Amino acid sequence: MSEEKILVTRSSMPDYEEYIEAIKPLWETHMITNMGKFHRQLEEELKEYLGVPGISLMVNGHMALELAIQSFGFPEGAEVITTPFTFISTTHAIVRNRLQPVFCDVKETDGTIDETKIESLVTEKTVAILPVHVYGNVCNTEEIQRIADKYGLKVIYDAAHAFGIRYQDRGIGCYGDASIFSFHATKVFNTIEGGAVTFSDPKIYDKLYNLKNFGIRGEELVVDVGSNAKMNEFAAIMGLCNLKHVDSEIEKRKKIYDYYINNLSEIKGIRLLEQRAGATRNYAYMPVYVTDEYGCSRDELYEKLKEKNIFSRKYFYPLTCDQACFKNKYKNLDINNARRLSDGILTLPLFSSLSLQNIDRIIEIIKNVLL
Ligand SMILES: *Cc1c(COP(=O)(O)O)cnc(C)c1O
Repeated sequence: MSEEKILVTRSSMPDYEEYIEAIKPLWETHMITNMGKFHRQLEEELKEYLGVPGISLMVNGHMALELAIQSFGFPEGAEVITTPFTFISTTHAIVRNRLQPVFCDVKETDGTIDETKIESLVTEKTVAILPVHVYGNVCNTEEIQRIADKYGLKVIYDAAHAFGIRYQDRGIGCYGDASIFSFHATKVFNTIEGGAVTFSDPKIYDKLYNLKNFGIRGEELVVDVGSNAKMNEFAAIMGLCNLKHVDSEIEKRKKIYDYYINNLSEIKGIRLLEQRAGATRNYAYMPVYVTDEYGCSRDELYEKLKEKNIFSRKYFYPLTCDQACFKNKYKNLDINNARRLSDGILTLPLFSSLSLQNIDRIIEIIKNVLL
């Protein structure tokens, strides 16, 4: 029992019967994709749940980000100020749009972009800021918006981790010009694979519609050079089922998160990240910051857990700017906090069905690492 293998996450799924019942109508209509009935229904329900003025569903979070960036029509080679402390998708989406990422440092306290360092990176070529609400920790949206307004920049948030989070009583997807969410199997809410862009300007909806469906506007009419990034009906139905249970999933995650916090906060050298005042949480991840005062390095702790069949993850190490495909290609002058955090961060297992017994196993290893 004590050797049961524990992975960092486990996908939430509805009961088998619930999903099977929900997909039955597809065998009557044979309408299984192309913005069908369930796609439209999920769009409506998510708009409500996320508290956003506009939403467009996508095949995954990465395409949501790629197409959100593309929808603004930035000139080739323009600069986008972003963070290297994120999943590789964030940087890929910028570069695949033929734009240049300019890497800004993050705050060691919460991992989000350091808003005090953004302004010095703005040049004639800057067109946008692309921050990440990393682990669901909310960025300093006020200061980011102030800088964007001052220099006429767009703000696109990678909110892949921030499903359902509200900040100052507004859905997190209301901030900036657009935000993207990921509904990947490993995220708090999933449609197996899926994602969405949220926005306020209704013109963005039409543009994204073209970009996700080949620009087709009629049987004989193509108006834009679009891609294919539509969510299919099986995925949309998985989303409708999972959405019914997401509040209770988050509630279960909260209990596990609180239990971790109560047991880890006293350990010397283990630091927990902060969340901004005024923001709700979704308990998507359990990051711990292994600092120099702890008895061993982050990598040693990672190995110790692994020896005991517990698979934590080094989210996010290496920094995206240090990956083989980007190394030495883009500006990253002052990212010392990001480097330190990335060298010390470890994401512990957290999912709704993780038992207290198994969390105790993990906590014991972290407490007794020196024994
Ligand atoms: C998961 C993730 C994405 C990409 O989403 P997919 O649905 O996997 O394509 C983008 N950015 C961040 C920060 C993510 O964690």
